[in-house]
Amino acid sequence: NVRVRFAPSPTGPLHIGGIRTALFNYLFAKKHGGTFVLRIEDTDQNRYVEGAEDYIIEALNWCGIPFDEGPGKKGNFGPYRQSERKEHYYSYAQKLIEKGHAYYAFDTPETLDFHRKDHEAKGKTFIYNWHNRLKLSNSLSLSGDEVQKKLNAGEDYVIRFKSPENKELILNDIVRGEIKIDTNILDDKILFKSDGMPTYHLANIVDDHLMEISHVIRGEEWLPSLALHQLLYDAFGWEAPEFAHLPLIMKPVGKGKLSKRDGEKGGFPVFPLSWNESIGYRETGYFPGAVINFLAMLGWNPGTEKELFSLEELVEAFSLERVNKSGARFDPEKTKWYNHQYLQQKSNSELAQLFVSTQGQQHPSILEKDKSYLETVVSLIKERSTFVSDFWNLGDYFFVPPSSYNEKAVKKQWKENTQQILENLVSFLSSLDSFTSEYVEQMVKGWINETGLPLGKVMAPLRLVIVGDLKGPHLFHILELIGKEESLSRIKNALS
Ligand code: GLU
Repeated sequence: NVRVRFAPSPTGPLHIGGIRTALFNYLFAKKHGGTFVLRIEDTDQNRYVEGAEDYIIEALNWCGIPFDEGPGKKGNFGPYRQSERKEHYYSYAQKLIEKGHAYYAFDTPETLDFHRKDHEAKGKTFIYNWHNRLKLSNSLSLSGDEVQKKLNAGEDYVIRFKSPENKELILNDIVRGEIKIDTNILDDKILFKSDGMPTYHLANIVDDHLMEISHVIRGEEWLPSLALHQLLYDAFGWEAPEFAHLPLIMKPVGKGKLSKRDGEKGGFPVFPLSWNESIGYRETGYFPGAVINFLAMLGWNPGTEKELFSLEELVEAFSLERVNKSGARFDPEKTKWYNHQYLQQKSNSELAQLFVSTQGQQHPSILEKDKSYLETVVSLIKERSTFVSDFWNLGDYFFVPPSSYNEKAVKKQWKENTQQILENLVSFLSSLDSFTSEYVEQMVKGWINETGLPLGKVMAPLRLVIVGDLKGPHLFHILELIGKEESLSRIKNALS
């Protein structure tokens, strides 16, 4: 029975790395007919950010990877917010104390700081573990009475995990295989704080156990916690889930993980949805499917050349065995490529509707055209578009005459006899009784042939006066679409 969870802390907007983790959990769950749980890990009240939980839920929904159980949804393992599960954790910390796997510690921040500095001065690192425990103030170094006295007096305490001395731990990770750890390097991590809140480690293990999580799929940054987590499962006498740590998502260039700053510098989104001044994939005009598709390829590969996958195809193809060990380099150009591909797959009718709904208000001349006109426009420009928002820039001349002409092009293409040529062309075009693209093309080319002029001498200036530039799709398609009257008017305008 596969049960996986995505367990973000609501400390701010979700970075796309978080979405990638959620996605891999989702794919794995769906592949195995399992359940995808969202658990909000909000035990660190200092880092809590208003609105972050809503953001996470909205982002998952927008991406099309909704959770099966979680806040606001029914499930047998709730509540799904750790702040609403507070009561549990204390008793579990107590259980560990009773079993001798955890202990009270009363050291003040000043004492700890002193030890840290003292060690540093000697070129060593201070680790709160078997090596130092007895020199510090805790229930292993103090007598039972002393401990009780401190507790009764309401002194600040934490509960620490007692990590074993001189043991070799053998950990298993689906992505990385066997990992050996010497327990002597482990810290006695804090499990519970005197503010009545568990730390991440305790809450995470207790909840994964209570929620019957079968596989923990999370980012590589949690790999250093794996030893402690395994020890906690052992200490409780629980069977641990299987673990899979996903490779980091790396900056586009250089070393290190992708950060918000990289996005700001490079002008690309790192968040699924906008948050304050950071623009998201949704607002940039990405299709959710494109985002999911490129994220799937960050750290996983299908083992074939295939790059375009629908969500259903990803579910079908996904396996944790094909998750890569090494970091996945983020490539903002590739994300655009994906969106371009997804845009090509959309129907003209859907694209036309999006064009109207996103740009109609700003450019009312779009609204004056009927559905079939818009669909034809879209069919002519989509090949050059990455986003629907490119449509206006690439196709404004389908709606309004050019407000200016590309100067460079004018300089190059506007020759002494151009005026005359276009004047003659106007009379010729006026005489045509049909204005379909094919017919006009045939007639104009015949006419050019007769005049003995090189094709470019006519076609380039013609494009310039119709479009305003030398770019754009097949010119005769444009002429047909804007019609005879408008075509003639644009040429005449340029000549006057
Ligand atoms: N709350 C942790 C986070 O913010 C969860 C890590 C885990 O999946 O164990 O990523």
